[in-house]
Amino acid sequence: MAKIFCIANQKGGVGKTTTTVNLAAGLSQLKQRVLVIDLDPQGNATMGSGIDKRKLETTVYDVLLETSTIPDACQRSEKGGYDVVGANRELAGAEVELVKLERRDQRLKTALAPVFDAYDFVLIDCPPSLSLLTLNGLCSADGVVVPMQCEYFALEGLSDLVNTIKQVHANLNKTLKVIGLLRVMFDPRITLQQQVSEQLKTHFGDKVFETVIPRNVRLAEAPSYGVPGVVFDPASKGALAFVAFAQEMINRTSAAAISAPVQSTSL
Ligand code: ADP
Ligand code: MG
Repeated sequence: MAKIFCIANQKGGVGKTTTTVNLAAGLSQLKQRVLVIDLDPQGNATMGSGIDKRKLETTVYDVLLETSTIPDACQRSEKGGYDVVGANRELAGAEVELVKLERRDQRLKTALAPVFDAYDFVLIDCPPSLSLLTLNGLCSADGVVVPMQCEYFALEGLSDLVNTIKQVHANLNKTLKVIGLLRVMFDPRITLQQQVSEQLKTHFGDKVFETVIPRNVRLAEAPSYGVPGVVFDPASKGALAFVAFAQEMINRTSAAAISAPVQSTSL
């Protein structure tokens, strides 16, 4: 049965989409069956998976409005080795339309139920907001992966996200939890980044993933070729880090790990 994860952080440009597509490609290389849901109207995860968002006939917008299903709306990322339900600007309108509808925060969860057995992992690339779209993601998910840069303001905004996750956990989705914080775009030569990284570990303990994703230009170049960095340059440091992260996700989210007692952390 699929394990479902949101890649979320309401800040823009922190590495959510890069994490989504490269984790998907890394998991695929480790023989996992993966579905990516692009919940961001920018459609970057769609394009970064080699699917042209301007040519999509059905998108996650149709899935949320229940005029299509996930099997009908999804396409194969041939290069990435996973399936994608794509998004484009049309999705921005879903926010307004969903407000009027019943079960507006449960639409994605309902749509995912029939494909549970078809995948091992579902990864949801969230938009940079705590909107109704993100809420649909959080209501569907078993857990949240939070990419963050080790900068001075890294923790700012984290409490808003954690509070939202706690509220969703309390009221809408009892299984939701923070799986971990992922340090991304890391440059070990910068002392401040090392310090913030250490602070994160002190504060959040093993809620911080062991794998660190380095700043690596190959990861930034890959989207313009419509290929995840993991496939674009498999020997690059960024690609190797994402494959290691994929293995860490498999280990951390195996049935045994998920049922382990909650760690002593405030997340
Ligand atoms: P988000 O989805 O949170 O807005 P992105 O994944 O689109 O963030 O990343 C923002 C920018 O940073 C993009 O241009 C991306 O290519 C670049 N980027 C992300 N991760 C890395 C990395 N590890 N090394 C170098 N550039 C990166
Ligand atoms: Mg993005």
